[in-house]
Amino acid sequence: MRNERVLISGASVAGPALAYWLKRYGFRVTVVERAPELRPGGQAIDVRGPALEVLKRMDLLPEVRARATDLRGISMVDGEGRELFSTTEATASGGRLDRPDVEILRDDLAELLVRAGGPDIEYLFGDSIENLEEDGASGVGGATGAGEAGRSRSGADGAADGADGGGGANGGANGADDGGANGADGGGGEAAGVGGAAGVRVRFESGRERTFDLVVGADGIHSRTRALAFGPEERYIRPLGGHLSVWTAPNYLGLDRWQIAHQPESGPWQALVMSVRGNTEARVYVVIEDDSLLQSEPGETQLRDPEAQKKLIARYCADARWEMPRLLSYMWEAPDFHFDSVAQIHMDSWSRGRVALVGDAGHCGSPASGQGTSMALLGAYTLAGELHAAGGDHVAAFAAYERELRAYVTANQALAHTLREAARRSAGAAADFPAGGEATASAGTRTRVPDYGDDFYDVIDGYTPRDY
Ligand SMILES: Cc1cc2nc3c(=O)[nH]c(=O)nc-3n(C[C@H](O)[C@H](O)[C@H](O)COP(=O)(O)OP(=O)(O)OC[C@H]3O[C@@H](n4cnc5c(N)ncnc54)[C@H](O)[C@@H]3O)c2cc1C
Repeated sequence: MRNERVLISGASVAGPALAYWLKRYGFRVTVVERAPELRPGGQAIDVRGPALEVLKRMDLLPEVRARATDLRGISMVDGEGRELFSTTEATASGGRLDRPDVEILRDDLAELLVRAGGPDIEYLFGDSIENLEEDGASGVGGATGAGEAGRSRSGADGAADGADGGGGANGGANGADDGGANGADGGGGEAAGVGGAAGVRVRFESGRERTFDLVVGADGIHSRTRALAFGPEERYIRPLGGHLSVWTAPNYLGLDRWQIAHQPESGPWQALVMSVRGNTEARVYVVIEDDSLLQSEPGETQLRDPEAQKKLIARYCADARWEMPRLLSYMWEAPDFHFDSVAQIHMDSWSRGRVALVGDAGHCGSPASGQGTSMALLGAYTLAGELHAAGGDHVAAFAAYERELRAYVTANQALAHTLREAARRSAGAAADFPAGGEATASAGTRTRVPDYGDDFYDVIDGYTPRDY
C-alpha cells in the first residue's frame, strides 16, 4: 500500500474518526492536537442518518447511545421565567425525539472515538503544525487539475487559529491574518503514480520535524492546515450571522433530562440550559443574533480572546432576569467555555497535493445546520475508505472522496439556511409551536423549537454510506 504515513491535525470528531478508519485499513497514523489534552466542552451534538451507520460500522453505536443526553423534552420560559410552552416531542438542540438520532456531548464523543482507535494511533498533544513542505516530484494542488511541479512551501505566519482560543480549554488567541500559501492558487495536481521520495515535511511548533506521506486537516472551522495549504480563512469562511457560546454549570435547577429555552422580552439574544451526563451537570448556551457585532466594538480581534468574549456576553445579558444572573456567574470560571461565530466553510476542492481536509476544516455546516458532527463522521469514513480502496493512491482517493460526498455535504450546508429562515419567519408567531406540544401561554414569545420538519430529515436520510 502506498502513502502509509498519515498525519492528522485535530483530535475532536473528524480527526479521531479518520484515525480509527485509517488504522483499521493498515495505515500508520499520527494525530497532532493543539490542546494539551482532549478538549473539554462543547454543545450537545447530533449524530443522524448515515453518520449513525458509520458509528455502527465502528461497533461504537451502543457506547455512544449509553452516553447520549437522552433528553425528554423542552420548556420555554419568558423573560420572567414563566413557562410558555412545553413538549416531549422535540428539543431545540436535538430535534425530534421519535427518531433513532443520538445527541451526545462533543467531548464525550471525542473521547469514545479516541478510545476506539486503540493504542496504535500516535497522539501528539500540545503541539501544532507550523509549516508544511511538500517535496519530491509532487506539487501542491488539487487532486485533479493541471500540474504544478516542484516544491511548495506554506509558512505558518498568521495561520488562522480558533476563535475560541484553542490552545487549551481557555487557551490564548492567535490572529487570523494571512495564511500565506505559496503556490496554492495554481490548482496544480500531482500526476498519478509519482512515487519516490514524495512526501510532506512537517515542522511542528515544538520544533520537531517529521515527514509524512499525507497530511489531513481535521482542525475545525479555523483550520490552520487549511490556511497553510490553501490560503487564508477569509477566502473560505461565510458568516451566517450570530454567535454561539456554551459553558458548563451545575445542574442546580434540578433539570431531569430536560432543557429550558429562555427568551428575554428584548435584546438580540436567547439562552438554553439543559441537564447532561445523567443530570449531574448542565450546559448553558447563549446565542447572540446581532449582525452588527463583528463591525462594532469589541471587534474581530477581541472576539478571539475568551475574556473579551465573556465580557461581551455579560454586556448583552446585563438586564437578564429569570435564572440568567446565576447561570452567567458560572461562565466566568467555566473550564470549557466555547464561543464562536456561526459560519460555514465553502471550498472548491477539499484537497491540494498531499493535503486533504475533513470535517469542519473543509466543509463546516455551522451549528445552524445541526449536521456538522454527522458530516465530520461521514467525511472521515469516506476519506479513509477511498484511500483504502485506491491502495493508498491519494490522487485517486482524494478525487473519489469528493465525488462521493460533495452533493450530500452541499445539501446539508443548505439546511442551515432553511432552519434559520424558518426561525426568522416564525419569530413572534405563537401558533407555530410544533404539533403535540402543550402551549401553557401564548402571547408575546419569540422563542420556539426550531422546525425540524420532514424536509430536514429527507435531506439527512438521503444518503447511504458506501461499503469499502
Ligand atoms: C471545544 C469545542 C467546542 C465546540 N462547541 C461547539 C458547539 O457548542 N456547537 C457546535 O455546533 N459546534 C461546536 N464545536 C464544533 C463541533 O465539534 C464540530 O462542528 C463538529 O463536531 C465537527 O468536528 P471537527 O472534528 O471537524 O472539528 P472541531 O470539533 O472543531 O475540532 C477541531 C479540533 O482541532 C483542534 N485544533 C484546532 N487548531 C489546531 C491546530 N492548529 N493544531 C492542532 N489541532 C488543532 C481543536 O482543538 C479541536 O480539537 C466545538 C468544537 C470544539 C473543539
